[in-house]
Amino acid sequence: MTFETLGLAPALLRALDEQGYTQPTPIQEQAIPLALAGHDLLAGAQTGTGKTAAFGLPLIQYLATTPQEVSARGPRKPRALVLTPTRELAVQVHESLRGYGKYLRIPSTTIYGGVGMGNQLDALRRGVDMVIACPGRLIDHLERRSVDLSGIEVLVLDEADRMLDMGFLPSIKRILAKLPRQNRQTMLFSATFADPIRELALEFMHDPKQIQVTPKNTVAETITHRVHPVDGSRKRDLLLHLLAKDSRMQTLVFARTKHGSDKLAMFLDKSGIKTAAIHGNKSQGARQRALSDFKAGRINVLVATDIAARGIDIDQLPQVINFDLPMVAEDYVHRIGRTGRNGSTGEAISLVAQDEAKYLRAIVRMLGRDVDLRDVPGFEPQTPIRWGNSAPGKAELPGGERTPRRNGPQKHARRPHSEAPRHAHAGPKKHGSGPRRDGGRSGGARQGQARPAR
Ligand code: AMP
Repeated sequence: MTFETLGLAPALLRALDEQGYTQPTPIQEQAIPLALAGHDLLAGAQTGTGKTAAFGLPLIQYLATTPQEVSARGPRKPRALVLTPTRELAVQVHESLRGYGKYLRIPSTTIYGGVGMGNQLDALRRGVDMVIACPGRLIDHLERRSVDLSGIEVLVLDEADRMLDMGFLPSIKRILAKLPRQNRQTMLFSATFADPIRELALEFMHDPKQIQVTPKNTVAETITHRVHPVDGSRKRDLLLHLLAKDSRMQTLVFARTKHGSDKLAMFLDKSGIKTAAIHGNKSQGARQRALSDFKAGRINVLVATDIAARGIDIDQLPQVINFDLPMVAEDYVHRIGRTGRNGSTGEAISLVAQDEAKYLRAIVRMLGRDVDLRDVPGFEPQTPIRWGNSAPGKAELPGGERTPRRNGPQKHARRPHSEAPRHAHAGPKKHGSGPRRDGGRSGGARQGQARPAR
């Protein structure tokens, strides 16, 4: 399969060629023909799968080839809206879309909080076709009437699960209420499909075609998962020990709290490892600077919280270290999505203290695969970690199997196969049929569909 056979315009093919995209990724193969045919899409794809191009290419092609329906007076109204959970993702999506559309004239802007309103107001006054926005700031613009969403023809909800996790559901609903319901195409991308997402899709989408590139809650096969049990008080030293092994290696370190990530970054920096922290309390400028320093190799370690890390796109990141385990198992998937991209190998290392054993159990259950559990000599925990409610003298491994108490340097925590995540197939109810938008995009493209596994 090539991008050409997917039906993309020559101007897009040229830009893709320059960016070294030779072959569509699986999500692109499935999504592009359906989106070009005007269908609503409910796509199960996590970050790193090429989802931005999966919605971005058909979106740009539509804008470039379909004239604006009403020629209103005043500034041109935006025709496409991409909603993202974080500023970083908004910036990254915007950069990608600009790259794909570089041979087409599609004015666009980003809208997100943490920066002044000035540039955003200027761009909206000049008029744009495409807006890539975070919900909070977009609501601010709606309230001051500086943006008019009544001309939106294509809506993309990117990383919808994360937007809901971040409490954006009320904002999203307010935004959706401002969009025309008729003749709108909606594409929703999400790594997971919890009930609220399906409800949102039912409410606002029209006979969505469902596609899925990886079963729910799976991570790339090329990633190894390693767990080092350690006392909480020795985690910093263990982290330093691991990082010092190869001081040139680029490592993304996850910490649970903003304060914790600041303290950890300071500690590493003082210990001679060039480090920056990235989290929601940092200004947009500081976050962008940290990210570009990391991408350029000027710093080796980036300490991030879950929310700030959303949207970080770094090619070939070899390792991710969880200084703290996430309390929500699905966040592990998002964290680990930063490594092992596009078939490269990656390592996910987690430093796990006694009080985090419950989180590890949930993660291993969700992953459904082996986790390499091993002590680091010199950092063995004083209190042996009990993974479950096992009797004294036994340690229950995270997957639920019982095994003698750890005393060797290495164990494998393996989940029994029978506990593999179930994949039910109850898709959203359909209402209506076929694509709603005309303009040369009608038709019933139905290839490549698969129900998202839940
Ligand atoms: P995304 O999941 O959209 O964040 O994309 C992940 C990474 O894969 C980004 O660095 C993209 O530039 C890259 N990418 C997306 N599609 C392709 C493709 N077809 N060929 C090569 N790289 C790609």
